[in-house]
Amino acid sequence: MQWFVLLAFVFVLLFTLVRVQLSLLVWTTTIAGALFVITALDWIGGGLAIALWLIFAVCMIPLHWSEMRKRWLTEPLFQHMKQSLPPISNSEKEAMESGTVGWDAELFSGNPDWQKLFHIPKNKLTDEEKNFLDSDVEVLCSMLDDWDITHKRNDLSPEVWEFIKSHGFFGMIIPKEYGGLDFSAYAHSQVVQKIASRSLTAAVTVMVPNSLGPAELLLSYGTDTQKKHYLSKLAKGEEIPCFALTSPVAGSDAGAMTDVGVVCKGKYKGKEVLGFRINWEKRYITLGPVATVLGLAFHAYDPDGLLGDTKDLGISCALIPTATKGVKIGRRHYPLNAAFMNGPNSGKDVFVPMDWLIGGEAYIGKGWQMLVERLAVGRGISLPALSVGAGKRVSQTTGAYARVRKQFHLPVGKFEGVQEAMSRIGGLTYMMDSTRLLTLSMLDQGERPAVITAIVKYYLTESMRQVVNDGMDVHGGRGICMGPSNYLARMYQTIPVGITVEGANILTRSMIIFGQGSMRCHPFIQQEMAALESDDMASFDALILQHAGHLMRNIARSVLFSVSGGRLVSSPVSGDMAYYYQQLARFSASFAVVSDVALMLLGGQLKRKEMLSGRFADALGYMYICSATLKRFEGDGQPESDKVSVQWACQYALYQVQEALHGIIRHFPMRIVRWKLYAWVFPLGRRLNPPSDALNHQLALQLQDLGDARKTWLDGIYLPDDAKDVVGCLEYALQLTLQTEPIMQRLRDLDINDAQENWQVLCEQGVLNKDELKLLMQVEKAIRKAIDVDDFPQGRKRK
Ligand SMILES: Cc1cc2nc3c(=O)[nH]c(=O)nc-3n(C[C@H](O)[C@H](O)[C@H](O)COP(=O)(O)OP(=O)(O)OC[C@H]3O[C@@H](n4cnc5c(N)ncnc54)[C@H](O)[C@@H]3O)c2cc1C
Repeated sequence: MQWFVLLAFVFVLLFTLVRVQLSLLVWTTTIAGALFVITALDWIGGGLAIALWLIFAVCMIPLHWSEMRKRWLTEPLFQHMKQSLPPISNSEKEAMESGTVGWDAELFSGNPDWQKLFHIPKNKLTDEEKNFLDSDVEVLCSMLDDWDITHKRNDLSPEVWEFIKSHGFFGMIIPKEYGGLDFSAYAHSQVVQKIASRSLTAAVTVMVPNSLGPAELLLSYGTDTQKKHYLSKLAKGEEIPCFALTSPVAGSDAGAMTDVGVVCKGKYKGKEVLGFRINWEKRYITLGPVATVLGLAFHAYDPDGLLGDTKDLGISCALIPTATKGVKIGRRHYPLNAAFMNGPNSGKDVFVPMDWLIGGEAYIGKGWQMLVERLAVGRGISLPALSVGAGKRVSQTTGAYARVRKQFHLPVGKFEGVQEAMSRIGGLTYMMDSTRLLTLSMLDQGERPAVITAIVKYYLTESMRQVVNDGMDVHGGRGICMGPSNYLARMYQTIPVGITVEGANILTRSMIIFGQGSMRCHPFIQQEMAALESDDMASFDALILQHAGHLMRNIARSVLFSVSGGRLVSSPVSGDMAYYYQQLARFSASFAVVSDVALMLLGGQLKRKEMLSGRFADALGYMYICSATLKRFEGDGQPESDKVSVQWACQYALYQVQEALHGIIRHFPMRIVRWKLYAWVFPLGRRLNPPSDALNHQLALQLQDLGDARKTWLDGIYLPDDAKDVVGCLEYALQLTLQTEPIMQRLRDLDINDAQENWQVLCEQGVLNKDELKLLMQVEKAIRKAIDVDDFPQGRKRK
């Protein structure tokens, strides 16, 4: 009996801790009173009671007696943390301080405020943006022949280049006053998504001038003269930009570049002016071979003190016309047979006047900060749009192909093995799109969410990799044999480009997401670091006290929510989706506990423990992705047709969170801590499963149907209404196949062999009428065209 009362007491204590914020004094008195009652009534025996009083004394006395706390707790912790902090380079510091935090901080807090999520407005297009998508982008897509681009020309056609430039595709982020389109992040993303669904080469070509590059940097940091000189020309495509950061020795660690500019005097327009003499060697530069203006990142030095006492000025950015003496440009790389322009460039003793530095003299040495700030925006738009465009195209083609392609007398999409792959295609695509949309809403609110955009870049390009691979598997040989009618192979080949650029994925997952997230989004860490840095023991002591309270609350939430399977969490919605909100809140609390413990015990070591850090990234990333999926479903008015996709995406994402947390605990370096964390996070074990077979089955069938669910998947991609088109013929075959479904069903109900060779006889017997026979023949023809692959004469160039 007394054990039952004791358990009830612990439960009430945990529940109160979770729900009510009480002062330390009230807590101490309550716990002391409870211990007194337990001891007085001799419920737990003398030995255990003494042990509990000792634990109580050890925990509570230092909390109340500040001198003692400082001496025995705060000071040793202060010294330990100071020593264990890894050296942070200036570039890392600047990266950590750049951008804003929002929903990611809520997830980090352990107690997300759903109203903040719901208040993020839904994406909207202006009439002008809509019109551009329906006319200019539609026309551009119809002009793109990917086989011609990637195989025959290794370039876009001159007509396509001209169309892109003259219709303002290079000026989507440039304000109207400079002749640009001034599109929202959402519109910009819709444009890239649509083009990417047709040709990745064209999408990358359009993406680059609108992403991290000269226009973006000029808009944020350029002088008025620079803006006036360049922006209108960039908007009209009269200047073609590129941005050169990467060099042969400095890839991911771009800050270690050996491209050097030395302050000196030189001749410019007949006058002697101050500037830099720059030598550089860069590679992999997109649009580099055709650029007329080169954005260059270089390390600036002032050995002769012409600007002041500082000799090492730091990374700086300049805009250099490629016609300048000493600039060598024009050779090409071939990135996996994609035909967008990409190549190396170099400069020997190029004199660059001060006026060519982006932002002028004031921005010398601020190059790294400028780049990471703007990357926090750009990487949330371009590659996510490209990934979703590819995902939607694979969903459309694979759904249609699986329905029209028959083996063993059945559409291959009816086989469970194929359905498993198809459910990943549809589920991940819906999930990716929801994540893209939420991030764009934040960007359109003026946020620069550095951690979130790193998450979106990583998880969307990785999901695209999975989706395209699954699409290839379902297409079998149809996806492998290359030629004008293959709509998947180039996409498949190009996947690693998205994985590698704008922060290579391994590095982004294992170093950036949690590394930056823990510093930026944690409610106390940044302030604690500042207190450590400035040797401010008093502030550190106050922060540690609050931090301890925060940790205790989250431990209580994590245990209580885990034991109750999330049922004790209040959900902001009712109905089927409430469960997912509850699980998300539960994992947010568990994530906060595990990250606090890891940060406290491993400190600076965590930076080197990239496998742990990568799992933290997975947990945070999939919590964000799950929130985005739920938010979209609410924002769209809970459409019945999307329910299967939402459930699949939430189950998939929450399972990943669970497995990531489990992985962190399992591999935590200290055994005793492992057991504690298991007790706090998984007191009843791991109870979530990945999407069920039944859900996979439903989702795969929706992909093969022409219903509303499929419309959501296809929303925003280019869908030619032309049966002669490589993708249009597949859609046409699907439509006809579904039209003949009642006829085929009738034959099956009559137990008649529905094989093609019997149709003529069946018609003569009156089982099929002439119109039905005609339709069936038409379908077979359409299917044959849709499943055909290209072949080429032997020993000749494949043209
Ligand atoms: C097609 C293409 C277009 C590009 N366009 C441009 C452009 O326009 N402008 C420009 O400046 N650059 C551009 N880049 C360069 C691109 O940004 C770099 O390729 C990228 O930064 C990675 O550098 P790297 O290829 O040298 O790989 P490396 O830096 O050598 O990395 C190799 C591997 O190690 C991993 N890694 C490295 N450090 C760590 C770490 N600390 N922790 C964990 N993993 C780590 C990386 O994730 C990667 O998987 C382009 C590259 C390509 C391929």
